[in-house]
Amino acid sequence: LNRRLAEFGTTIFAEMSALALRTGSINLGQGFPDTDGPEEVREAAVRALRDGRGNQYPPGPGIPELRTAIAAHQERRYELSYDPDTEVLVTAGATEAIAASLLALLEPGDEVIAFEPYYDSYAACIAMAGGKRVPVTLRPHEGSFRLDLDELRAAVTDRTRLLLINTPHNPTGTVLTREELTAIAELAVERDLLVVTDEVYEHLVFDDAEHLPLATFPGMRERTVTIGSAGKSFSFTGWKVGWVTATPALTTAVRSAKQFLTYVASGPFQYAVAEALALPDSYFSAFRADMLAKRDLLATGLAEAGFEVFKPAGTYFITTDIRPLGETDGFAFCRALPERAGVVAIPNAVFYDHREAGAPFVRFAFCKQTGVLEEAVKRLKALA
Ligand code: PMP
Ligand code: GLN
Repeated sequence: LNRRLAEFGTTIFAEMSALALRTGSINLGQGFPDTDGPEEVREAAVRALRDGRGNQYPPGPGIPELRTAIAAHQERRYELSYDPDTEVLVTAGATEAIAASLLALLEPGDEVIAFEPYYDSYAACIAMAGGKRVPVTLRPHEGSFRLDLDELRAAVTDRTRLLLINTPHNPTGTVLTREELTAIAELAVERDLLVVTDEVYEHLVFDDAEHLPLATFPGMRERTVTIGSAGKSFSFTGWKVGWVTATPALTTAVRSAKQFLTYVASGPFQYAVAEALALPDSYFSAFRADMLAKRDLLATGLAEAGFEVFKPAGTYFITTDIRPLGETDGFAFCRALPERAGVVAIPNAVFYDHREAGAPFVRFAFCKQTGVLEEAVKRLKALA
């Protein structure tokens, strides 16, 4: 393994899902729903397979039907207009969109600012691109993890090329506010930075939180690569359909890298996702309501079990602090939890450069059936 990748072992998600299987534990670690997305979307995939649509290489940028549907979705929800032919790119999940964006846009030595804790592929992809990651730590403040805007401004140097943003944020569940996004946008414009924004949880925002795409802020459309995922928006994480929307120049750049990573992927599923994106708003509101009920169930249960709970405004993850349980090391806690309670969770420290800053935090996924969450809560309450 080369030096760029040496610090990255097996991803925590593979490790923890294997541990869940091995111990027969309830897996609240890796974020994937245990119920599949809409029946009619699955039917659309079956029809595509059967009719021979997408069984051979689809077009490099993605099938036109899907690119059109992605553009229509951005227009309908956010009044962001993108040309399906030049400003939309279909990728093998958001994961490839992140990798291709960083590989395409960074020169070796360029600095990338990302919030810490960050989704684990960010660090590895920045490293593969030869970039240098500069983490800005989100810190607990009145019940949620917040950004210190002064710290963000101070992190920008002459070598900073790109801000890698994620809202709604995995693993903390923070949804950046209009004020925070305005400040980020102003900084990007002032320092002439590119922005890659991972918005895969765009449909999962709760209570009075609102998802505001960075590309809608003044001066941002021309410098922003926006990333979405059918895995997250429609509960088909195994299909690996993601996308990028950006200016023609940025889209072409990302595509240049993408064509040598997978070239194309997920042929028949692209047809199905095109139909999914056209689902009425009632699909998205029902999805959100379902996840909200699950969030409340798990948040209440975890609090009753003695965890400090950071109630998420978005995503399908809850970050907790284990110190009220008399624990301090999330790694040790998560490694022991399957034996102690038959539950798997993720230590947030893996998402930090400053591991000590993340040590007491543990993430639980609530995208699981109600009965599964209830059983997990019962087991966790028995820990005390
Ligand atoms: N970004 C974030 C923040 C995620 O949590 C995930 C995991 N779903 C991804 C990207 C990857 O998405 P995909 O499964 O579409 O590759
Ligand atoms: N995004 C999911 C999570 O955060 C997992 C994706 C993966 O397994 N790489 O749990």
